[in-house]
Amino acid sequence: MVIYSPGRTSTYPEKPPENGIRYHYLGGGDEVGNVGCMFEDPKGTRMLLDYGLAPTNPPRYPHEAPMVKDAVITHSHIDHLGMAPWLCANHRTRLHGTQLTAEISRMMWNDCYKVSRIEGYPLAWDKRDIDGAVASWNVHNFGQTWQKNDWKLRLERAGHIPGAAMLHVETDSHKLLFTGDFDTRNSQLTTGAKPEKCDVLFLEGTYGGRDHPPKNETIKQFIDRVVEVTDRGGTALIPAFANGRTQDIVMTLHEHLPDLDVHVDGMGKYVAKLQMENPESLRDPKALEDAWAWCRRVSSKSDKKKALNADCIVSTSGMMDGGPSIWYLNRLREDQRNAVLMTGYQATGSGGRMLLDSGKIPIWDKETKIELEVNQYSFSTHAGHKEIVDFAAACEASTVVVYHTDPNHARPPLVAALEANGHVVHSPVNGIPQSII
Ligand SMILES: [Zn+2]
Ligand SMILES: [Zn+2]
Repeated sequence: MVIYSPGRTSTYPEKPPENGIRYHYLGGGDEVGNVGCMFEDPKGTRMLLDYGLAPTNPPRYPHEAPMVKDAVITHSHIDHLGMAPWLCANHRTRLHGTQLTAEISRMMWNDCYKVSRIEGYPLAWDKRDIDGAVASWNVHNFGQTWQKNDWKLRLERAGHIPGAAMLHVETDSHKLLFTGDFDTRNSQLTTGAKPEKCDVLFLEGTYGGRDHPPKNETIKQFIDRVVEVTDRGGTALIPAFANGRTQDIVMTLHEHLPDLDVHVDGMGKYVAKLQMENPESLRDPKALEDAWAWCRRVSSKSDKKKALNADCIVSTSGMMDGGPSIWYLNRLREDQRNAVLMTGYQATGSGGRMLLDSGKIPIWDKETKIELEVNQYSFSTHAGHKEIVDFAAACEASTVVVYHTDPNHARPPLVAALEANGHVVHSPVNGIPQSII
């Protein structure tokens, strides 16, 4: 764990590269999440892509960023922006991103701060730094070019979640494309990312070596399961991440099971409101509006009690680390007609992971045996192996830098597939600068 102290020297090289472009991962080079990637040209023009943390238990933090005046934040997940308040407080860094990313950021930072307090984790920034970070945003529309010294920069849709962007950078010598977290497939909420010709592609490799099952199969299994649970008189508790997944699930239920009584709780309600205020970030704004008008939003204690009789409860926390989903689980656990339907990745150390592995979960700090059926469904909005490889080919990138990936399991098969297609592939290591000539 890195504990920061302002003014401490970082491991970042003092001089600009002699030629080409140098990149340097502060985090996220050979791990999932925790992203921070510095890149710099021979004239000393430099920028940071993302500055997050990994919300594992305990969290991981990237290396300390060197002085940097501009950072592009690809999207509003905590593993991409969790450390941005430190940047703004210590380097007065300007944050660049889409309007929606900027609008969701305060909520994500507040939540990150709250969790660090509850769990007793050190955090390098203070609550008052959030205001400074919110004031540091420079927002850009998709497709709009802006300039930083000689560089031309542009954000394009990354799929993944509403507001998520890929970054194009045109320098004197190279065309760079950073995918951020991306998916080329459409989701309920977003339009898939489109490839674009570039020289160097910085490619998210979370799903290297793993292909997604066809989306409609996963949806069918999930919907069939919801029907089974509700037909026997049970309530399906559906833990979901606030930012993307909650809205995706509600839209899916609305589309396939419009007669159900679906209640929604947690921060996802607030995110949905911001998404609807930024319709340009959505694939089909009306579909979200309709689904949102259809479901019942829990906003009081009595609403919470009413939700216990619903067909479905969609709620944070998605990994069942506290939040309303634990409150509901505690009430629903006595009746075995009820079931838990997980909709996302469950990190090591999370409540959801423990529930899947051992049938137990901490409820108000007490390890509790859960007798309910528990299922997990993959509603991932990251590109799978095939999508990643096809995307790189369509970008015609001569060099591909694979990051945001597990270096032992996901990266090797992805590197092999990319090399077989003729790309020169880099496997970055955090803290070690590399050059592209
Ligand atoms: Zn990520
Ligand atoms: Zn993400």
